[in-house]
Amino acid sequence: MSEFRADLHCHTTCSDGSLSPIEILHLAKQNKLSALSITDHDTIEAYSQALPAALELGIELLTGVEFSAAHQNSSIHILGYGYQLENLAIQDFCKRHTERRLNRNRGILDLLHKIGMPISEEELQSTSSSSSHQKGTIGRPHIAMIMVKKGYITTPQEAFKKYIGEGRPCFVQGQTFTIEETIDVIHQAKGLAVIAHPHLIKQSHLLDILFAMNFDGIECYYGNFPAQDHKRWLKIAKKKNWLVTGGSDFHGSIKPNLNLGSSWIGKNEFQTLKEKIT
Ligand code: AMP
Ligand code: ZN
Ligand code: FE
Ligand code: FE
Repeated sequence: MSEFRADLHCHTTCSDGSLSPIEILHLAKQNKLSALSITDHDTIEAYSQALPAALELGIELLTGVEFSAAHQNSSIHILGYGYQLENLAIQDFCKRHTERRLNRNRGILDLLHKIGMPISEEELQSTSSSSSHQKGTIGRPHIAMIMVKKGYITTPQEAFKKYIGEGRPCFVQGQTFTIEETIDVIHQAKGLAVIAHPHLIKQSHLLDILFAMNFDGIECYYGNFPAQDHKRWLKIAKKKNWLVTGGSDFHGSIKPNLNLGSSWIGKNEFQTLKEKIT
């Protein structure tokens, strides 16, 4: 028997990953993961395909999602775990995110058009990642990929750096949801709310605000990060009596340097998490 490893952060074609829910479960099996949580951006769509596949492959699948939220103008990602798929509050919240993104993407496309980089809504809808999932989340990474495909730029990073990244000329914030309402929806669906990749939050006062909120856990193990980077977050988890989570943030070929299972939690941490789900 190999060691128990649970990767609790990855993306599929239902948002901006390059593998379908079924393909990601096969990769999880290949990479000898015991448990997985798919955390697509603002959608729980993957689970209708993922659940039967996980059962067939003998992988323990925990419901997951990564919600986009904002505090003032700062963007914060919040992971939700163990929520009930049939819960109407979380389903409705995902629909509101789809609406939000539709309007925001229109705004970004308008601005790109004005600077001579036209992309039609149809082109965006039919990006390779989202084509098989009409209801999947479409965001800036998809826009960046089309900009590359159309030869406007050479890399997706260039799109963020010059045009659609925060503060750049074609950036649109659009409607935002607060951290508080996001945590509340996850709790209504009987799930656990976890701060995603805290090391990306550069303002320490913002971290202090988050640490005073009603979260259940913090993502301590992330991506390819070396062990010393985890210690800071493990200390916070201990102090707050929060759950310790971890995952790769695997996106497939979109972020080719990150493999599924590059970060994970072990049996004890996973068991503790499951015991907190009511
Ligand atoms: P959205 O949810 O549409 O605002 O897009 C946010 C996603 O874009 C993030 O989850 C990242 O995967 C990606 N992203 C954000 N900033 C950058 C950047 N500077 N370079 C590449 N990808 C980025
Ligand atoms: Zn993503
Ligand atoms: Fe994220
Ligand atoms: Fe992510």
